[in-house]
Amino acid sequence: MAAFSKRLLRPPAWGRPVGRREGSLGTDAGSAVRVRFAPSPTGFLHLGGLRTALYNYIFAKKHQGRFILRLEDTDQTRLVPGAADNIEAMLEWAGIPPDESPRRGGPAGPYQQSQRLALYAQATEALLETGAAYRCFCSPQRLELLKKEALRNHQTPRYDNRCRDLSQNQVAQKLTKNPTPAIRFRLEEEVPAFEDLVYGWTRHEVASVEGDPVILKSDGFPTYHLACVVDDHHMGISHVLRGSEWLVSTSKHLLLYRALGWQPPRFAHLPLLLNRNGSKLSKRQGDIFLEHFAAVGFLPEALLDIITNCGSGFAENQMGRTLPELIAQFDLSRVSCHSALLDLEKLPEFNRVHLQRLVSSESQRRQLVGKLQALVEAAFGSQLQDRRVLEPAYLDRIMLLRQGHICRLQDLVSPSYAYLWTRPTVGRAQLGAISEKVDTIAKRVLGLLERSGASLTQEALSGELRKLSEGLEGTKHSSVMKLLRVALSGQPQGPPVAEMMMSLGPEEVRERIQNVLSS
Ligand code: GLU
Repeated sequence: MAAFSKRLLRPPAWGRPVGRREGSLGTDAGSAVRVRFAPSPTGFLHLGGLRTALYNYIFAKKHQGRFILRLEDTDQTRLVPGAADNIEAMLEWAGIPPDESPRRGGPAGPYQQSQRLALYAQATEALLETGAAYRCFCSPQRLELLKKEALRNHQTPRYDNRCRDLSQNQVAQKLTKNPTPAIRFRLEEEVPAFEDLVYGWTRHEVASVEGDPVILKSDGFPTYHLACVVDDHHMGISHVLRGSEWLVSTSKHLLLYRALGWQPPRFAHLPLLLNRNGSKLSKRQGDIFLEHFAAVGFLPEALLDIITNCGSGFAENQMGRTLPELIAQFDLSRVSCHSALLDLEKLPEFNRVHLQRLVSSESQRRQLVGKLQALVEAAFGSQLQDRRVLEPAYLDRIMLLRQGHICRLQDLVSPSYAYLWTRPTVGRAQLGAISEKVDTIAKRVLGLLERSGASLTQEALSGELRKLSEGLEGTKHSSVMKLLRVALSGQPQGPPVAEMMMSLGPEEVRERIQNVLSS
C-alpha cells in the first residue's frame, strides 16, 4: 500500500480539463477523453454490464480516447470469487478490451479500489479539515433503531445527522473511546444543477430526502460515492457514462466535487436494458451472463450488435453491424431516455448474420475451422469411422456450404448434421418403403460418380441428379431425392441432396451408396 501512495497522490495530468463550455460533449481537440467501466465484482459480467462497457468503449474509440476498467471492490462482504477475472476476461472475449485495467495496468493504477485506500483517506482528511465531513460515533444499534422507527412510521429510513454538530471537545472525548469512527459527508442544500448528456438538466435535492451519507467506514474502506468521485478525479475521467440507476446519485457526487474543489466530469446516464416485455433482465436466470452465451456458441459480434439494436445511440436499428461500424455510426446525442428493450429471441438470427460474415472471410474461417474441429471431436470423437472429417479442408468446405443456413457453429454437431461426421445406419426396408427401385437408383448414382468424379459444381450435380429419375416408372423425382437423402444421411429432411453429396465428397458418397447395395 505504502509503495503505491506516492504515485497515487500525484495530481492527475490528462491534458486540459474538460469544461462544460467547451462544446456540447466536451470533446474538443486537446481535451483527453477518458471513460471508465466501473463494475463491482459482485457477480459475473452480464448483458447489462456489457452494454455499459460497450458504450464507454465506443465513445472512447470515437474520440481517440482511453477506455478504463476499474473494479469497485470496496464492499468486501459482497465480492464473488472469480468475478473480477471474469469481467476482464469477458471484455477481452467480447472484443472490447480496456486500455487500462487491473490486468493491463496503466498510468492511473492501481485499478482496484481496494488498493487505493490511501487516496480515499487523503480526500476524507481534506473534507474533515474544511468541515465538509464529520466523524459519526453513532452505534450500529442506534442506527438500526432509527431505521426501524422510520419503517414503523412508513417513512424512508434516513440518518438524523446527529453527529453533525458535535463540538471539538465532544469529538476529542468520543475519539478516546472510538478512535476509528465512520466519516459522514455533510449534504449541503442547494445542489448544483447539471446537464446530463442524455437526460438534460437535472438536480436532486438530496439533503431534503437523505441523511448525511457515510463516505468512509470505520474499517478504512470508502463507500461507493466517495470512491467513485475520488477515482474519477484522479484517473482523469472526462465523461462518466453509466446506468441511469446512478442518475440520482450524481447530485451527491457533485456536492463532493465542490467540497473537494475539483472539476467534475461530464455525465451521460444510459437508460436501462430490459426484456422485451419491460421486465428486468434477471441475473438469477443465469442466462444473461456472457459466459453462458460464449459456452453455447454465440459470437461476441452478435451480442454487441443486438444490445445496440434496441433503439439507443444510432440513427436506425440495423442488424449485422460490426464494431467498427458501431463506432462510426454511434451518436451520443441519439441515446434516448427510454429503456432499451432487448429481444433475445432474435439472438440466433443476429448470430446467423455474423457467422455468415465470418465464414465468408478466409482468415476468420481459418479460426472457425479450429473451433469446429474441437466441437466435432467433443461430440463425435469416439464414434468417428473416418478421422478425415477432422481435416481442415473438409471442415472448411462444410462451413462454406452451410453458411447462411446455420445460426451457430454448434448447429453443425446437432443430430440433424450427424451424417457429416459419421455414417448412418440405414435399413433396406426403410429405403424400400420410399421406392422399389432402390438398386436401380443406387447403381445410377454410382454410374454418375464414375462419369463425373469430383469435377462437378453443385449446380451441375443438381442437373445430373434430375436425370436420375428419367425412365423410372412409378418413381417420382422427389422420391428419388428422398431415397438418396435417407441413404446418405439417415434423415428424411436436410440440405439438398446435391449439397449433401458436395459436402461428403464422391468417395464417401460411393461408400454410402455401396452400403445400400450390399445391405
Ligand atoms: N460500481 C458501480 C456499479 O456497479 C459503478 C457505478 C458508476 O459507474 O459510477 O454499477
